[in-house]
Amino acid sequence: MADTNIDRSERAGWREVLDELARGGLMRKLRTIEGAQGPRVRINGRELLCFCSNNYLGLADHPALVQAATRAAEEHGTGSGSSRLVAGTMVLHRRLEDAVAKFKRAEAAIVFPTGYMANLGVIPALVGSHDVVYCDRLSHASIIDGCRLAGADLRVYPHNDVARLDRLLARGRGNRALVVTDTVFSMDGDVAPLPDLVEVCERHGAILMIDEAHATGVLGETGRGATEHFGIEPGRIPVVMGTLSKAVGSLGGYVVGGLDLIELLINTARSFIYTTALPPAVCAASIAGLRMIDEEPQRRDELWERTRQLQDGLREAGLDLGETETPITPVVVGEADEAVALADRLLDVGILAPAIRPPTVPEGTARIRLSPMATHTREDIEAVLEAIARG
Ligand SMILES: *Cc1c(COP(=O)(O)O)cnc(C)c1O
Repeated sequence: MADTNIDRSERAGWREVLDELARGGLMRKLRTIEGAQGPRVRINGRELLCFCSNNYLGLADHPALVQAATRAAEEHGTGSGSSRLVAGTMVLHRRLEDAVAKFKRAEAAIVFPTGYMANLGVIPALVGSHDVVYCDRLSHASIIDGCRLAGADLRVYPHNDVARLDRLLARGRGNRALVVTDTVFSMDGDVAPLPDLVEVCERHGAILMIDEAHATGVLGETGRGATEHFGIEPGRIPVVMGTLSKAVGSLGGYVVGGLDLIELLINTARSFIYTTALPPAVCAASIAGLRMIDEEPQRRDELWERTRQLQDGLREAGLDLGETETPITPVVVGEADEAVALADRLLDVGILAPAIRPPTVPEGTARIRLSPMATHTREDIEAVLEAIARG
C-alpha cells in the first residue's frame, strides 16, 4: 500500500508530539493578516486592534519606506542572486551599512538577513570550544542558539545579576570570555544594567556583546538604543547587534563595531557567508526607516505617551507588570491555558494580543504581552484597558 501522509506521520510520532502540545495548551497556530501591518489589522475580514507587533513606530507601512522599497525594486530588481561574498553585495547593502554605522555612531557595520541570523553567526565567530560564553537566563532564543552553535562552555547567570556574573568571571578559565545580553528583554521589557555590565567586563577582560533589538528606535534621546539611554560612549562596547525588523519597520540584522570585528565577521560568520544577501528593496526600506527615526522624533514621543497611558491604566487596575521600563507590557497570568483564555477574551472584543507561553517564557509565567505603537490612538489604549478590566 502506498505511504500516505497519515501513515508516515503516525510512524514518525509527529501526531503524538502535536497532541502532547495541545494537551499542555501549547499548540501554536498561524493567523493571517490581510493587508498591511498597522495599529489595526484585518483577519478573516474582521478589523482588530493589534497590540502584539514590534512595529513600535508604525513605520512598517509608512509611505516613505514603501516608496523607497518600490523605487529600489524598479532600479535594482527584486533578488540579490547570491551571497554577499560572491556577487550579492549591491550598492544598497553598502549604503545601508553606512547608514547603520552612522546611526549607531560606530566605526563600521555589517548586515545579516535577520537579527536571528546575526546572533547565530556572530557568537560562533567570536568564541569556540576553548572559550567561555556567559549569558543572561532570559536571553532571546537567538542568543542561546548562537551560544550553542559556538560550542563554547556556556554559563547562564541569573537575570540581570551582575554580582553573580562578576563571581563567575573571576572563576572562569578559558582563552576568551564573551558576555552576551539583551539590552531590553523581549518578554519582560526590563533593561539590562549596562553600565555595571560594561564595568565588570572591562575589569575581567571579557568581551561584551549586546543585543539592541527592542532598544533600537525606542530607547535614548534620539532612539540610538540602550547605549544612548545610559550615556555610554560609542565604541566602548565591542560588539553591538540589533535588528531592522522592529522599530525600523523593515528586515535585517546588524552588527556594529570596529573595522577588525566587521572584517572578521565578513570572513567567518557562517550565517553571513552561506546565505543570499538581503533584497535591495528591503535595504532601501531600512535606510528610509532609520532616516524617519531621525526626522520624526515625535513618533518616539507618541510611543512613550501611549506606553505611559497603557501601563498607568493597567497598574491602576491592580495588575502586575513586573519590571518593565519600556513599551513591552507583560501581563503575567501564570498557566498557559489561562493566558490563552485571556487572549481569546481579548480577541472576542477585537483586540489581538496572543498568549506567550513556555518555552518562550519560563514555566508558570505565561502571559499576554501588550505592545503599544506610536500610531495607536488614546481611544485604542482605552479600549484595551476596558477589555482587560472586564477580564
Ligand atoms: C526579535 C529579536 C531578535 C531577532 O531579530 P529578527 O530580525 O526578528 O530575526 C534577536 N534578538 C532579540 C532580543 C529580539 O527580540
